[in-house]
Amino acid sequence: MINPFETEDRAAFRKTMADFIAAEVIPYVDEWDEAGEVPWELHQKFGALGVFSFGIDEKYGGLGFDDVFLRVIYSEELAKCGAGGVGAAIGGRNISIEPISRLASEDIRNRALPEIISGRKGSSLSITEPGGGSDVANMKTTAKRDGNHFVLNGSKTFITGGMKSDYFVVGARTGEGGLNGISLFFVEADAPGFSRSPLPKKMGWWASDQATLYFDNCRVPAENMMGEEDRGFLAIMNNFNYERVSMMASCVGGMKACLEDSIAWAQERETFGKPMIRHQVIRHKIADMSMKIDATEAYVNQICWAMNEGHKPVAEISKGKVFATQALTWVANEAMQIMGGAGYLRGNRIERTYRETKVMAIGGGSEEILRDLAVRQMGL
Ligand SMILES: Cc1cc2nc3c(=O)[nH]c(=O)nc-3n(C[C@H](O)[C@H](O)[C@H](O)COP(=O)(O)OP(=O)(O)OC[C@H]3O[C@@H](n4cnc5c(N)ncnc54)[C@H](O)[C@@H]3O)c2cc1C
Repeated sequence: MINPFETEDRAAFRKTMADFIAAEVIPYVDEWDEAGEVPWELHQKFGALGVFSFGIDEKYGGLGFDDVFLRVIYSEELAKCGAGGVGAAIGGRNISIEPISRLASEDIRNRALPEIISGRKGSSLSITEPGGGSDVANMKTTAKRDGNHFVLNGSKTFITGGMKSDYFVVGARTGEGGLNGISLFFVEADAPGFSRSPLPKKMGWWASDQATLYFDNCRVPAENMMGEEDRGFLAIMNNFNYERVSMMASCVGGMKACLEDSIAWAQERETFGKPMIRHQVIRHKIADMSMKIDATEAYVNQICWAMNEGHKPVAEISKGKVFATQALTWVANEAMQIMGGAGYLRGNRIERTYRETKVMAIGGGSEEILRDLAVRQMGL
């Protein structure tokens, strides 16, 4: 589909990303998936391409400008490798960069941002708790003031990159129950009272680690509070916008990979005396896959345009992420069906993409929670 927003600069960025991923990522994804990690140099190579630097001031090593279209091009192209864990390992830091760049003290920004956006060090956003992730306003981890420090107690889980990150943006309760008593803190991995352990093996996202973090009288300097005391909930919600749009773009990338490989397979494979692509049922599957890609892409583009214009289209982002994850789930399922038994074997993009669908429907706001948010945005 013609994309009216794909300017020459954006097309050039897409080509740079696609070429880089073809050379530096795709040949190794199965190996990294099985190993459960990507080499750390890959973080730095992506950092050098500027993919962690959108919206970051040049004085911290950032690009000095933002363009949501470029953010989604990166997510879409990376998702085409089919290994969501590679994208999560590399891009996991993205969801913590925005709060650090906007809310952390000048000293922290000066010190940590250049290391994070260059890919030298990792950072993680830490919101979800063992007791629940959907009900963010009800988080239980506490932060109590003690002189020039805050003392954190509690734990976080499912934290992407948590075993390797040096820096954490942590939500904790500083005030009354509910959404008005939450603050954000910048916690370093060597803070006293901080420890972590890896989560067991997962269904997908093999190449990225998720950790449980423990705060046992963990002391952080008072200036590590990010933003206003008790106003962290809004910051967390705002931060979700970029994450969700990126996830939509990843769904587009995953769907395009599935469609491309389905077509190639259906052209090559013969059943009942003719190539599968000549069977009407298969042709209809291809048409339906293509429709869902077009619709999701149009949705992403419209949201990018609105965000670039300074709007916060929360309802559209919520509905759009649900639309995208459902489309991806459907497309990956049909692609597996077209591949038949061959698709069930490891080592192909369709199999990889299929096993990454569920995390997209749960992480970054589940389909149920986002539908609810969309309806609330309608004033209902
Ligand atoms: C691989 C992976 C990586 C992740 N990375 C991070 C990370 O880096 N940082 C981080 O903070 N979190 C992370 N998460 C956590 C993720 O954000 C949560 O899993 C998600 O928010 C859902 O929370 P939960 O799993 O505790 O489910 P719960 O909140 O316990 O909900 C369970 C199910 O019930 C549904 N549900 C809940 N309440 C309702 C309701 N009122 N009505 C209808 N249905 C409802 C939910 O939609 C969900 O499907 C990650 C998760 C995964 C799987």
